[in-house]
Amino acid sequence: MIEPIRIIEESESDITIEWSDETKTHYNAVQLRRACPCAGCIDEWTGKKTLNDKAVADDLAFKHTSIVGRYALNFHFTDGHDTGIFSFAYLRKLT
Ligand SMILES: [Zn+2]
Repeated sequence: MIEPIRIIEESESDITIEWSDETKTHYNAVQLRRACPCAGCIDEWTGKKTLNDKAVADDLAFKHTSIVGRYALNFHFTDGHDTGIFSFAYLRKLT
C-alpha cells in the first residue's frame, strides 16, 4: 500500500507529501477544500458535489493536518471546515 512518508508544510496554504513509492505530490488548501469529500460537500447518495467553489476563499489556509488511522489525512482549514477525510488513494487521484 502506498502511504505518506513525510508531510511537508511549505507554507500556511501549501503542502507537499512524500509517498512510499518515492513520488512527491503538492497541494494547496483551496484546491483540497474545493475537493473535500465529506457529506457536507458531496451528496452521499448521488456522489454529486454540493459545495460551491466560489464559497471557498482564495486565501484559505491550513490550520492543522492529521493522519486518520493508516489510510487518510484530515485537514483543518482556516474557514473552520474540518470534516473531510481524504484517503491516501483519493489524494493521489487529485494530482
Ligand atoms: Zn467538506
